[in-house]
Amino acid sequence: MIGIGNGDSTSLWYHHWIGNQPLYNTEGVRISDSKAHWFVSHIIRNGSWYLNDIQHLIPPHIKSLILSYPLSSNSKEQDFIRWIYSKNGCFNIKSAYHLQFNNEHATTSNNIAWQKIWRIMSPYKYKMLLWNSAHQILPVAVNLNRFLPQISPTCSRCHLHAEDHIHLFRDCPKSSILWSYIFQRLWSASKFNFNSFYNSDWTESIIFNLNNSMKWKNIFITAVWQIWLSRNRAVFYLKMKSALSLYNAFYVDWSFANICSQGKELGANQVPGLTKKTWFPPKEGVMKLNVDGAWKSDAVSGGGGVFQKIHWFLVCGILQ
Ligand SMILES: [Zn+2]
Repeated sequence: MIGIGNGDSTSLWYHHWIGNQPLYNTEGVRISDSKAHWFVSHIIRNGSWYLNDIQHLIPPHIKSLILSYPLSSNSKEQDFIRWIYSKNGCFNIKSAYHLQFNNEHATTSNNIAWQKIWRIMSPYKYKMLLWNSAHQILPVAVNLNRFLPQISPTCSRCHLHAEDHIHLFRDCPKSSILWSYIFQRLWSASKFNFNSFYNSDWTESIIFNLNNSMKWKNIFITAVWQIWLSRNRAVFYLKMKSALSLYNAFYVDWSFANICSQGKELGANQVPGLTKKTWFPPKEGVMKLNVDGAWKSDAVSGGGGVFQKIHWFLVCGILQ
């Protein structure tokens, strides 16, 4: 957190210098275009707070908070970094220890659930997206509209409702059709609690999904990723995927993720039909060639292989 000296180097709206977070992220705060570049020094005059220019942009409790903040009598004093976990604003080991101890012993159900995101067997970017979605901090239209009123909060895919996280990932007709395909074709678990899946609170719904089996978590996180790709395609390239091609993209992605994670963590939840393979060395006097390949586009591809004899002895490798 920033401590205020003369306010010359601290952004009024975007640095964290008052309250629990930067003002731009605080409920009830508006930023006018003409004052978006302001520093804290813009609201200090002759060593005192002068809020006339912004009092219509901030809620009363923030105004009181600012007025209660003691200002330095020295107008040349620079702004400085404050360590908010100690009383005097200076860093010390004792307060850092207490902070770490409290973090490690924080056992709210949400904290436990969020840790489950990082254990899902899927690419890191999928997990990062789900984490951001769970905290509802993605640049969906509703979030953008809060700070940039010229951006419409309406969903770019259905044009029917505001695009918040729950709408984008679950309730938009363009997304809900993917979920119904998944429930019809892929996921017929009789014990699945659809009421919890369709919880009206997005965070609660994600927690329900994270408390489900690893197989379901793989399906869920892949669907969320593919919906995000499809949504960005619609927003940035004005191209709408059909319901079937969205499902196909999801299915290919999900199948591939399952093949990659075979034998790692899926265990009892392994995809039916995909059995765990073990490599056996060839018999005496015989060589075995193991090959693998990958492609990125028509022009970029590669493959390779290794000849092996008994006892995993590498004879030679090839790469193209
Ligand atoms: Zn929509």
